[in-house]
Amino acid sequence: MSSSGMPKIPAPLTNIKIQHTKIFINNEWHNSVSGKKFPVLNPATEEKICEVEEGDKADVDKAVKAAREAFQIGSQWRTMDASQRGQLLFKLADLLERDILLLATLESMNGGKLFPVAYMRDLPATIKILRYCAGWADKIHGQTIPADGDFFTYTRREPIGVCGQIIPWNFPLLMLASKIGPALCCGNTVVIKPAEQTPLTALHVASLIKEAGFPPGVVNIVPGYGPTAGAAISSHMDVDKVAFTGSTEVGKLIQEAAGKSNLKRVTLELGGKSPCIVFADADLDSAVEFAHVGVFHHQGQCCVAASRLFVEESIYDEFVRRSVERTKKYVLGNPLTPGVNQGPQIDKEQHDKIINLIESGKKEGAKLECGGGPWGNKGYFIQPTVFSNVTDEMRIAKEEIFGPVQQIMKFKSLDEVIKRANNTFYGLAAGVFTKDLDKAVTVSAALQAGTVWVNCYLAGSAHCPFGGFKMSGNGRELGECGIYEYTEVKTVTVKISKKNS
Ligand code: NAP
Ligand code: MG
Repeated sequence: MSSSGMPKIPAPLTNIKIQHTKIFINNEWHNSVSGKKFPVLNPATEEKICEVEEGDKADVDKAVKAAREAFQIGSQWRTMDASQRGQLLFKLADLLERDILLLATLESMNGGKLFPVAYMRDLPATIKILRYCAGWADKIHGQTIPADGDFFTYTRREPIGVCGQIIPWNFPLLMLASKIGPALCCGNTVVIKPAEQTPLTALHVASLIKEAGFPPGVVNIVPGYGPTAGAAISSHMDVDKVAFTGSTEVGKLIQEAAGKSNLKRVTLELGGKSPCIVFADADLDSAVEFAHVGVFHHQGQCCVAASRLFVEESIYDEFVRRSVERTKKYVLGNPLTPGVNQGPQIDKEQHDKIINLIESGKKEGAKLECGGGPWGNKGYFIQPTVFSNVTDEMRIAKEEIFGPVQQIMKFKSLDEVIKRANNTFYGLAAGVFTKDLDKAVTVSAALQAGTVWVNCYLAGSAHCPFGGFKMSGNGRELGECGIYEYTEVKTVTVKISKKNS
């Protein structure tokens, strides 16, 4: 502990030797069938960290075969006590905790995430997700049902089978745990593809899966590209479910591939353009801070980013003034360096897309309050940017930016702001700031979003279901609903001679 009572953040590791760069199938390391590798970069320096084996269709086929084998009736995994499955997940969580410094350093180096955020936020949340799921393993059960006639009827919640999982680069470990935790506690087997940009922490976790004692084939990790390895998973005839987090554009491709192949189950966590509504009676300091962090957290690379901020007319000018003052405080630089509080965007493609959207904001007449361009001459950095006088038809008010760019709009009435907030294809998250309980409850009910935060933003934990309305997704992840997304319900009816009530 430091003198302030806060846990002390250690220094990140230096001179890390990357140990795991291969494809993980059947608890063994494999080279790619094609012999190809791909480079993994540090987005703060643009330097190559290492090369990783590039999985493709042939490697996915091998991984699916291993996962299917591990799922056979009578296998070690299928006959294991549910409580033992939970113990394996608890063990995995303990191993992540043991290696927290290495994992947080890798997450920062490879993903551009601020080291203190990786160490204090992402890693502890990842470990909690695994423990939450571990606790569920022996509490997943069916019901007995009073069916008509002389029958005894009960339901079983069974695992679905081989689950293909495709994850993005913005929260590599959190996404990994949110996918494998629920799948494994229900007794499924998994083939997972990390994002091409950020495979390193997933591959370290692969080594921990083996160390924890999971039977071979239960978890298989295939690094590679989306259109090749990812598409091979979503169109595979022997994958029973696909779970995806990423862009809405690719989400549609996943659902299409599932429909065109074997109608595998599909859950999708997609993009957003989340409204954050600040009424004049809100606690201003707190609203400015939550709205700010809501969009600038992790350089704006967050599916729930509060990227449409609606502020009531009477406090608008003051709100903008304070938001700009807050935004000007950033120190940009290498996310492993102490004191830095904004790192790089993940890659050049994202960097250029964000710059293009910032330019569109300037052209379409929004007022640039601060920032507005790239930063530095190495790494994919963007100046923290605030636009005021934003109107609903501008591209920056409609498209997911996924960068450190805040849009502040003005509103006059409650009915007007609800309509404007819902006027989007997305429906992932929303925020409401007011001291009036009636207003908070009314607006929360009217907003079309899977998560609504009242007088806070970005709060979440493994216990809470997460997912989107409309084009922000399908199904829920985590919480009780999210666990059940990894089960099939079977109804068993037994003829008996005479039932008693
Ligand atoms: P993306 O393409 O949707 O990537 C997400 C995952 O899907 C990655 O593992 C990706 O592989 C894979 N993928 C790509 N094409 C695929 C296909 N045809 N079939 C199966 N899997 C496929 O996201 P992105 O290109 O990294 O970012 C683009 C935009 O997506 C961002 O600007 C942001 O708006 C949004 N996004 C949202 C989230 C979120 O949390 N909801 C996260 C990241 C990005 P690769 O590694 O080869 O790309
Ligand atoms: Mg992509």
